[in-house]
Amino acid sequence: MNVLRAAWGIVTGHMVTLKYLFKRKSTIDYPRVPYPHPERFRGVHELRKYDDGLERCIGCELCAVACPANAITVIGAENDPAAPTSPGQRYGYRYEIDMLRCIFCGWCEEACPTDAIVLTPKFDIADYTRERLVYGKDRLVVTDPFKQHLANTESAAQTEPGVI
Ligand code: SF4
Ligand code: SF4
Repeated sequence: MNVLRAAWGIVTGHMVTLKYLFKRKSTIDYPRVPYPHPERFRGVHELRKYDDGLERCIGCELCAVACPANAITVIGAENDPAAPTSPGQRYGYRYEIDMLRCIFCGWCEEACPTDAIVLTPKFDIADYTRERLVYGKDRLVVTDPFKQHLANTESAAQTEPGVI
């Protein structure tokens, strides 16, 4: 009798496995399969340039003031008239975002008067030290807007509709 009960337990266990074997998986094989971002996903920032190569950021610090997590540090400086960095009088001499403090709310993007700071679908930024997760201009400024536009278009093609 005990043997029968044990055998029945095995059969019912396998039936549960079989029931789910051919169902649509709710997990993905990340990182081999890209994560399907919702349409309005907010990830790692970029500092954009104009098509002529000048930086959009004018060092006004509005993004830093708007940031509820105190994650942004901006220090502006006067542009050199002979070789300006941005079209305005000033530019962002130092610009840093502490990704460990950031809550990816997007308020910096809303506050920026020149559309310089933009949140992108990029999200896989794990690293080994806290210092490396403070992004400076070397990692935030997009050097080739056209190439970046193409990359974002490809990234958007992998998204699925939804709102977070
Ligand atoms: S997304 Fe929000 S928390 Fe992150 S830097 Fe911008 S304003 Fe600050
Ligand atoms: S990113 Fe925009 S809001 Fe922030 S300092 Fe530059 S221009 Fe001002």
